[in-house]
Amino acid sequence: MSIISDRSFSKDWETISQIIKGNSRFLLTTHVNADPDALGSELSLAEGLRVIGKEPKILNPTRISRHYAFLDPEGEVKEFANEDIHTFDAVFILDISRWERLGSLADPLRDSNRPRICVDHHPYTGGFTDLHLVNVNACASAEIVYDLLSFMGIPLNRRIAECLYISILADTGGFTFSNTNNRTHQIVSDLLSYGINPRALYESLYQNHTPERLKFMGRVLGNLQFDCDQKLAWMTVSHEMLEKNLMTQEDLEGFVDIPRNCKSVLLSVLFAEVEPNDIKISLRSKGDFHSNKLAAQFGGGGHSHASGIRLSGPLPQIEQMILAEARKALA
Ligand code: 5GP
Ligand code: MN
Repeated sequence: MSIISDRSFSKDWETISQIIKGNSRFLLTTHVNADPDALGSELSLAEGLRVIGKEPKILNPTRISRHYAFLDPEGEVKEFANEDIHTFDAVFILDISRWERLGSLADPLRDSNRPRICVDHHPYTGGFTDLHLVNVNACASAEIVYDLLSFMGIPLNRRIAECLYISILADTGGFTFSNTNNRTHQIVSDLLSYGINPRALYESLYQNHTPERLKFMGRVLGNLQFDCDQKLAWMTVSHEMLEKNLMTQEDLEGFVDIPRNCKSVLLSVLFAEVEPNDIKISLRSKGDFHSNKLAAQFGGGGHSHASGIRLSGPLPQIEQMILAEARKALA
């Protein structure tokens, strides 16, 4: 490992390093519906901790998506089932810095008196945990895990490199998003030196659709609607549609990214009724349009060009409410 980062984004490096060195049992967790960066960050940090003889355990508020199970061949990622979190010496909360998206772990972690360390690259809203490695310039939370391992002199191995690579590949949209920079490529260059196979990892992550899922994607895209001089594109998936097609929320991964390929589109929105009246709204934008500002108007958040909202209520009303604000923002 040879890439020196600008570590000025946190004052807590040394404290966190001491906590790791002085303890053995670590709980690692992340937001609901863990995405590849969340999982890759947890799994690489867990492996790094094992390299120095520690006992990490990953407990997430929701179970791992079957689309990402390839990342976890040993079944290390478990769903939280009210285990006593006081048996852990310290907690790492990765890829999230808000209590709301920690699901069933939010209350136990908020009430915990153990050191809680936030590792995240989302815009930070403050007051989350006492110890932070939060860097909004990091292309993925995994970049910060890489920095932490590097800071502590923990050697990488092929498993760590694969998990970090998957995180970075996913969160940079295959090295295409605006968060991709010189350092991203330097880190990836280092990861490649551990013998990972980018082609195979890409296939595992993206070229894994069933024919049914691909056809379902076609049906959903067939209902794509446009407005605001085609700057706005949106699609809607009702719970009934999911059930009728034997699809779940996991199968919608990536759908919202596609309309952004249309030249005119600045904002793409997917309204997904994941359970009756439980609506997950995914937003993707490009250019100067910051989707997270729109998300924040409805209690959501995320990155400037990839954000989300979760609301309860009837799908048509929620759709109209958000589209009305989207139209204003794009006017
Ligand atoms: P996705 O659309 O892939 O579920 O989420 C994209 C990004 O939006 C995530 O990385 C996360 O930062 C953010 N996000 C998604 N859903 C929510 C939500 O309900 N609340 C907040 N605050 N952020 C969200
Ligand atoms: Mn991330």
